[in-house]
Amino acid sequence: MSEERPNNFIRALVDEDLASGRYAEVVTRFPPEPNGYLHIGHAKSVCLNFGLARDYNGHCNLRFDDTNPVKEDVEYVDSIQEDVRWLGFTWDERLYYASDYFEKLYQCAEELIKRGHAYVCELSPEMVRQYRGTLTEPGQDSPYRNRPMEESLELFRRMRAGEFQEGEKFLRAKIDMASPNLNLRDPALFRIRRAVHHRTGDQWLIYPMYDYAHCISDAIEGVTFSICTLEFEDHRPLYDWVLEKLDWPEPRPRQIEFARLNLEGTLMSKRKLLQLVKENYVDGWDDPRLPTLAALRRRGVTPEAIRLFCDRIGVAKKDSWIELEWLEKAIRDDLNPKVKRIMATLDPLKVTLRDWPEGQVTSIPAPFFPDDPERMGWRDLKMTREIYIEREDFSLDPPAGFRRLAVGREARLRWASYIQCEEVKLGPNGEPVELICSWSQEPRGLTKERPGIIHWVPAELSIPAVARLYDRLFTEPRPTGDLARELNPNSLTERPDCRLEPAALELLTTGERFQFERLGYFYLEKAPAAGHPGIFNRIVSLKDSWAKARKK
Ligand code: ATP
Ligand code: MG
Repeated sequence: MSEERPNNFIRALVDEDLASGRYAEVVTRFPPEPNGYLHIGHAKSVCLNFGLARDYNGHCNLRFDDTNPVKEDVEYVDSIQEDVRWLGFTWDERLYYASDYFEKLYQCAEELIKRGHAYVCELSPEMVRQYRGTLTEPGQDSPYRNRPMEESLELFRRMRAGEFQEGEKFLRAKIDMASPNLNLRDPALFRIRRAVHHRTGDQWLIYPMYDYAHCISDAIEGVTFSICTLEFEDHRPLYDWVLEKLDWPEPRPRQIEFARLNLEGTLMSKRKLLQLVKENYVDGWDDPRLPTLAALRRRGVTPEAIRLFCDRIGVAKKDSWIELEWLEKAIRDDLNPKVKRIMATLDPLKVTLRDWPEGQVTSIPAPFFPDDPERMGWRDLKMTREIYIEREDFSLDPPAGFRRLAVGREARLRWASYIQCEEVKLGPNGEPVELICSWSQEPRGLTKERPGIIHWVPAELSIPAVARLYDRLFTEPRPTGDLARELNPNSLTERPDCRLEPAALELLTTGERFQFERLGYFYLEKAPAAGHPGIFNRIVSLKDSWAKARKK
């Protein structure tokens, strides 16, 4: 399935651990928290974890990291499974939930208390903060730190029984309040939460903290490589500490961190994505402008393109921002050999060929994919007296270097003849509404430079369609999430008057993809039906307009 096996530092570590005999097999997991839809950053992690398992003949588990009942929902559980499957990966029966381990996690916590490695603390959140110290100053021991083990055990059992209110008590690890690593300053393990969980209902009134639940969940599942993003590097000592203090049998999982994906022009924070959706800045989680997988799918991006992108960007140990062009390039490279090229005008301008007989229709054969005409076949273009060209391909006042149509100039129609513009008819606001042209098989030499090639469709015989064009959601290349300032007001434009060449009619099934010559790759989100034109999403344009803008 994958193009070429990527080489990276994680694979080097895996090879090392297999060679030394530390592990006999590769078991990874993808552990999303079901509190939002997956985005392209998650895809990087999915491709990495499932890709490793595939290439080493191991396994990758899908585990819902559902330890925070307040933010989680089954809608997300379902969408995440759909998206991972769509990306091309399967987990067979290896679908797990951290909530399935709540009892085990509870028992392990009792064990830590009994071994003197955890205690019930009664400091308020405010006091906890004061006692924690800072990066430069050590913290102070909680007054509850040395309470007898039996007392902690009894209080912890009463926490479970629901005898206390939220925030009144919590269980914390007994590690080192003077550690230079703040994560080791007696971190919380369990806290009281009087919330209904989407799977366990009201069975639990205490919930494990992420750092505590994660390592034990990995260990329960026999995960060998627990791959996570860089911000967890400082949590690794805690990950190892928990398993060590529980005397978890070897081989224990090994945590490896890699740099998360940041993509220019968009945001990956689930909190910000949720805000965009909830406050209606976009039209749902699958709005094609979002970086979610549901959105990319609806836009028409293929899973192969996303996997290609993830392989190309690779994994590194240093955080960085990836230019959006990398994703766009992968999308184009994936689609180019797969889709038919047809002609369409997004913003049609009528052209009348003065010397073409009324009613004459001439068929012109043209290949759907010029690089390999045999594979994708041919269709007939239909030349008629009235055609549409793209409004942009005509200029009333042509700038220097403009090689397309203007009064007194000529251009070549793609796959067809040359046309010369003799006259322009203007509308009430001075806008061109029709061009009167002559035509010829050979250029007439009206311009010094070689005439440009423009796309066209026959007016009468063309098929109406609607196209939605997308631009980056944020104007800021590295958005911080300040929506009022950074959102791109032109991220969506609709072109309601598109026209497609007649041969498209037989191809208009929902889900089809095309290249509209010179305009980009398009995805038919909705086939035409009952008098409604088809609706196309532009997946990606053919040129990288932002790179040009940057150079200016
Ligand atoms: P939050 O936005 O709440 O911090 P998260 O992005 O960490 O959440 P999770 O559901 O916990 O979301 O992520 C599941 C997995 O996806 C984690 O292992 C995480 O490391 C990985 N992941 C999340 N975002 C990215 C990203 N931008 N690049 C690479 N991997 C990511
Ligand atoms: Mg997370």
